Amino acid sequence: MNTYLYEVLDRLVAFDTVSVNSDVPAIEYLAGHFEHAGFTTSLHRIDVGGVAQANLVAWAGPPREGGLIISGHVDTVPFAGQPGWNRDPLKLETAGDRIFGRGTTDMKGFLAQCADAARALDRQRLQRPLVFLFTADEEVGMLGAERIAPLLAEILGEVPRPHLAWIGEPTSYAVMNAHKSVCAFEVKVRGRGGHSGAPQMGVNAIAVMGKVIETIGRLQAERRAARSAKFAEVFPESPHDVMNFGTIAGGIATNVIAERCSMRMTYRSLPGVDPLDLYREVGRRLAQIDPHDYGSPDIAAAIELGPAMIAPAMLAPRGTTLEQALFAVTGATTAAGAPFATDGAWFARAGIATLICGPGDFDQAHQPNESIGRGAFERGPAMILEVIDRLCCRDLSK
Ligand SMILES: [Zn+2]
Repeated sequence: MNTYLYEVLDRLVAFDTVSVNSDVPAIEYLAGHFEHAGFTTSLHRIDVGGVAQANLVAWAGPPREGGLIISGHVDTVPFAGQPGWNRDPLKLETAGDRIFGRGTTDMKGFLAQCADAARALDRQRLQRPLVFLFTADEEVGMLGAERIAPLLAEILGEVPRPHLAWIGEPTSYAVMNAHKSVCAFEVKVRGRGGHSGAPQMGVNAIAVMGKVIETIGRLQAERRAARSAKFAEVFPESPHDVMNFGTIAGGIATNVIAERCSMRMTYRSLPGVDPLDLYREVGRRLAQIDPHDYGSPDIAAAIELGPAMIAPAMLAPRGTTLEQALFAVTGATTAAGAPFATDGAWFARAGIATLICGPGDFDQAHQPNESIGRGAFERGPAMILEVIDRLCCRDLSK
């Protein structure tokens, strides 16, 4: 057994890097490993909502064109209050052929594999730059990637920034070259409160929110019907925009007219489309809603569409040297779209062709008792070294 690999994962899981917490201790721990392995490192510190976060860049190899970025995020989704846990989320535990702990699959397992591969790598063999990039805040706003992607060339100095990136998000080692953009926003309805016995004295925000949901739901059905022939192969299950009503809250008691109701949602649009197109259409449709409830004809509610937060879509070209290398080490023979967004959204916007491929199963991500199979975990470092060998060490002219 590779004890170093397990040790690094054990330590990484023990850092509580739920996105709202600072990832700095975990990032500094990782930086230590890469420095020890002979890499040049740089911490890129950012402030996210008053919390100190950091991205880590660690690189090696000569200042030549080409090479590879290998990337993953350090933050995890929360576990407190998530039903179903019967293990300590911050304690790595091995049982049978699985390893348990928050982030084992998404995606500290891959980070540990990277640290192990970096340690084992003979840096003298590098013909082109190898860059590891570990980010903060991926699970919430992707601010780590958004902020660092445009600065990466500057941080690397004389080393030309590679044009290819590999993100090891959990795909069961399937290769994914695309994902949709994501747009998140809130709709607020402001009504007028009062006693439920006199509905005409107020306007019920929950009732008006019902109209909002109906209106957006119709738009959702229209988009579902508008299937894109161009993306039929990339997104075979949903070659169209998709939407989700995420959270809703409103009202204070059954005998009080609900004064406020707010709803948060996301949609995902196909690559090549302005991610804000659908948001603007939502705004137009909401403006056409009759803002009265069903029991109060005279008083109008206000429907407010909050600001949009977006992550761009990603669509990497097929047939890159990275794709060939990933096919060779995983046995995959084709690439398709991912149903989730990644930091690759911001890498793509910075002109970096990104592929998603990693250990762990997507259905383990964000789950209670998150786990990764030992086999998939243990074979990772050799796969990473092989991809590095193909992209950064071999003479590509041969
Ligand atoms: Zn992830």
